[in-house]
Amino acid sequence: NDDLPPAVSDGGVIKEGINEELDGLRSILRDGKTWMQEFEEKEKQDTGIKTLKVGKNTVFGYYIEVSKGQSDLVPERYTRKQTLTGYERYITAELKDYENKVFTANEKILAIEKDIFESLVAKVIEYSNQIKENASEIDVISSLAQLASDTDFCRPTITDKNEIIIKAGRHPVIEKFLSSGEFHPNDLTLNDKRIQAIITGPNMAGKSTYLRQTALIVLMAQIGSYVPAESAEIGVVDRIFTRVGASDNLLRGQSTFMVEMMETSAILKNATKKSLLIVDEIGRGTSTFDGLSLAWSILEYINMKIGARTLFATHYHELTDLDSIHEGIFNLNVGVKHDEKTGNMVFLHEINEGPASKSYGIEVARLAGLPSEVLDRAKEILFELEKTENDEVNRVTMPVKKAADSKQGKKEEKPVQLSLFFPNDELSDAVKNIDLYNITPLEAMNILAHLKDLVRN
Ligand code: ADP
Repeated sequence: NDDLPPAVSDGGVIKEGINEELDGLRSILRDGKTWMQEFEEKEKQDTGIKTLKVGKNTVFGYYIEVSKGQSDLVPERYTRKQTLTGYERYITAELKDYENKVFTANEKILAIEKDIFESLVAKVIEYSNQIKENASEIDVISSLAQLASDTDFCRPTITDKNEIIIKAGRHPVIEKFLSSGEFHPNDLTLNDKRIQAIITGPNMAGKSTYLRQTALIVLMAQIGSYVPAESAEIGVVDRIFTRVGASDNLLRGQSTFMVEMMETSAILKNATKKSLLIVDEIGRGTSTFDGLSLAWSILEYINMKIGARTLFATHYHELTDLDSIHEGIFNLNVGVKHDEKTGNMVFLHEINEGPASKSYGIEVARLAGLPSEVLDRAKEILFELEKTENDEVNRVTMPVKKAADSKQGKKEEKPVQLSLFFPNDELSDAVKNIDLYNITPLEAMNILAHLKDLVRN
C-alpha cells in the first residue's frame, strides 16, 4: 500500500487488486451491512413474515428474529437459537456460513497479507547485494522514470552538434505553481547561425524564466531525464555557466557588483565553444554607462573569442544593435501588449524574434499600483533623460556604426576616437565668450566660422 501501517500485523499492508481472496474477504467486512439488509429482504419474501429482522450481537452472533405471534410461519430450515419474551431468534445454514466467514475473515486477511509480504521480502533479499550496490543510482533513475511517466515531458534527442532546438519548452518548477495551461511554453533555436541570443523586454515579462528553463532543460537532458517540452534536440554542452541575479536583489551595492564581475570573469576564463552561457542582466549593479559598456564588451568577447551558445538577457536596449555587427548574435524579445480598454499592460510571456520595442518599466510600476502622480512625474523625467541619453549614446555607438557599415561592404573607415568629455570644452568656452551686445555682423560671421572649425576638428 502507499499508506503503510506501523506494523504488518496491523493489516492493510497489501493493496487491493493483488490477491483475489484477500479482496473478497475485505469486501465481506466492508459490505456487511448491505449483505444483512439483502438477506433480511430475501427471508421476508420467502417466509412471508413481514416483521422478520436480521441482527447480530457479540455473544450470540448472527440471528433472525421473529415475534412469537408469527412463529408458526417459521420454516423448517430455521434452527432456534435463543428465546426472549415476545421473540424467538433463529439461525439458518446460510447465515451460519456467513457468520463463520466474517469471524474468520480478519484472521485470514492478516495471514494472507503476511504471506504476500514475506514472499516479497524473500525476493528482495535475493537481490539485496545488487540493490545495495546500486541504491543511489536506482533512486535517481527511478525518480526520473516516475517523473517521465507522471508528466507530459518528452524524451530529448542528444546530438554532438552545436545546436539547441526546443519546441514549447517550459520551466518545470514555475509551471507547478500555476494552474494548468497558465504557463506559456516557448521555443528556442540555437545553431551555427544563431549562437548568442540577446533577450530584451520589460521587467517581469519572463526573461529570467526563459533563461533558466533553457539551462534546466539542457541539464535534465544530459543527466538522462525527460524534459518539460514538446520536443528537444540538445547538442551536448561541456558545462553550463550561469550569471543570474541572486535572490537578494535588493542589496544592489558595490559588493554585489563585485560578485557579479567575479562570476563573469570566471565564465570568460573557463567557457569554451561547447559551453552554454546563461547571462541575466549583467551590469545592473553599476551606473548606466559603466554597465552598458561592460555588457557590450562582454557579449562581444563571448561572440568573438569564445563562441559559446549564450542567452543574454539585458535591459540595455542599445545592445540590440550588435546583431547587425557580429555574426551569430541575434535578438529575441518577450511580448507584452497594451489592453486598449484599461490602458494597462498585459504580459504575454511569449518569446518573439527581434528586439523589444520600448522600455515598459513605468507601465510595470502602474500595474504595481504606484500613485499616478509619481508615474506622471516619472514619465516627464524619462523623457528628459532619454533626450540627453540619445545624444550621448549616439556618440558611443558611432564607432560601431562605422564597423557595421564596413561589414555591409561599404568603404572601411577607422573608428573615430571617443570623446571622453561632453560637451567639447573648447567649443563651449568659445560660445560662452561671445559678447552678443558688442559685436558687428561681420564679427558674428567670423565667430561662426571659428565655431564650425572647432566642430570639424
Ligand atoms: P523578468 O526576468 O523578465 O523580469 P521573470 O522571468 O522573473 O521576468 O518572470 C516574472 C514572472 O512572470 C514569473 O515569476 C512568472 O510568474 C511569470 N512568468 C514568466 N514566464 C512565464 C511563462 N512562460 N508563462 C507564464 N508565466 C510566466
